[in-house]
Amino acid sequence: MIIIIEVLITVIVALLLTKICKGKKEKKIKKSIGFLIALELLLFISIPTTFALANPRLEIQDVVEIEVNSNKQIETPKTSYLCQNVSDNVKIIGEIDYNTVGDYEIEYEVPKLVGKYYEKHIIRVVDKTSPEIVLTGEEVVDLSYNKEYEEIGVTATDNYDGDITDKINIERKEISENQIEIKYTVSDNAGNLSTKTRTVNFIDDIAPVLTLNGKEKISVIKGNNYKEQGAKAVDEKDGDLTEKIEIEGNVDTSKNGTYTITYKVSDSKGNVAIKKRNVSVINQPVQAKTGANGQKGVIYLTFDDGPSTSITPKILDILKKKNVKATFFILNYDGAKEEIVKREVNEGHTVAIHGYSHNYKEIYKSEEIYMQNIKKLQDKIKKSTGYNATITRFPGGSSNTVSKYNPGIMSRLTKKVLDNGYKYFDWNISSEDAGDAKTSDDVYENVVSNLSKSRSNVVLMHDFNGNTKTLNALEDIIDYGISNGYTFSKITESTAMVTHSVNN
Ligand code: ZN
Repeated sequence: MIIIIEVLITVIVALLLTKICKGKKEKKIKKSIGFLIALELLLFISIPTTFALANPRLEIQDVVEIEVNSNKQIETPKTSYLCQNVSDNVKIIGEIDYNTVGDYEIEYEVPKLVGKYYEKHIIRVVDKTSPEIVLTGEEVVDLSYNKEYEEIGVTATDNYDGDITDKINIERKEISENQIEIKYTVSDNAGNLSTKTRTVNFIDDIAPVLTLNGKEKISVIKGNNYKEQGAKAVDEKDGDLTEKIEIEGNVDTSKNGTYTITYKVSDSKGNVAIKKRNVSVINQPVQAKTGANGQKGVIYLTFDDGPSTSITPKILDILKKKNVKATFFILNYDGAKEEIVKREVNEGHTVAIHGYSHNYKEIYKSEEIYMQNIKKLQDKIKKSTGYNATITRFPGGSSNTVSKYNPGIMSRLTKKVLDNGYKYFDWNISSEDAGDAKTSDDVYENVVSNLSKSRSNVVLMHDFNGNTKTLNALEDIIDYGISNGYTFSKITESTAMVTHSVNN
């Protein structure tokens, strides 16, 4: 602007000087020139002064903030001087620790036409970055409703303070019956706050409890009806679901085999419970004949091959507790076992003869040998207890085929024992405790599923050493019998014989 005015004045002066040469209004023009020259002189003096006084202009705030540890540094501010961009000439004086929060005073130095220009500023290294919260696991967690939420884990790291996990505040908020919110809050030393939430949904992933009525393994005699006993189902959330149980499977009682009945129930959330029952359709173990005087609905518990020191006393304890009398078909005994035989007699049970020896290959060699085998034991029992045992049971039963090495022996013996004043009993229910029964449940099922009210029930069991499955099933069998209207009795001379068909 100043320069333009100067040029203009110079041009005007030059013009006026030209006019003087034309000789008109000379005086007036001379005055003007004088004024203009004076003005021009003044301006020429003021212009350098103005230049000397003029300062660069820095486009910068008084306090500049810069984030700590951010790898950022201050830049030279945009600077203009005499309408020129002189940013490149700006020099920074002073030190800044960009890794430590604080105020740092620096100076900008800008060269001028005459001398240098300085401007002070505060550079503030600040922590304005919030800490970072990191959740272990998911932000939305599904948890079984019967479990308590336990903190899965959380950490907090700040750009300046480092690990501040121990400063995290954890709040638990109930959103609904099935949902909670975990709120994590942490603040760094500079007061920068961070929050994060985790949602925990309590879900129903628990299947109903399905319980079979009756045993998981049952037997049905071929030709009898299979009675579905059903099952019960209870769900902790949905309550009683018994009516929703689906039962699948058929039992064809006309065919031997094992049939599976499947019970299935699901709760409202689709959690499924499944149970299975194995139903074995079996033949009547042995076709038995019951004498005419057979008492219907009576259970004769019989124990073969004892006495044993480990099992027989415990069986006697149970029988005593339940006030049930039974029949023990015993073998030869010695020592402590004699006391057990005495106890059997004293507690009112029937001590019966199985045989002095159980060795099939010896005892069925001849009628004489067999008769000696029972007589020898009969005499021993009499000597021990004063009791005259006359009830017998053939080792292997009268239907045995192990005696076939002596053809016809069973046909002859079954008559001979009767002729000699003995009675013999087979059985019409086998617990299979010396056979297929593997557990006390098996023993229980084999017995109770074959009980019948329309006949006397002679139950074959064993009290040899180690036969805990029968020992453990016994009380349940007695309870079943009592609660289902059976009576228990021991075999006596007046009991109608229950015998098998002879096969040899
Ligand atoms: Zn036996």
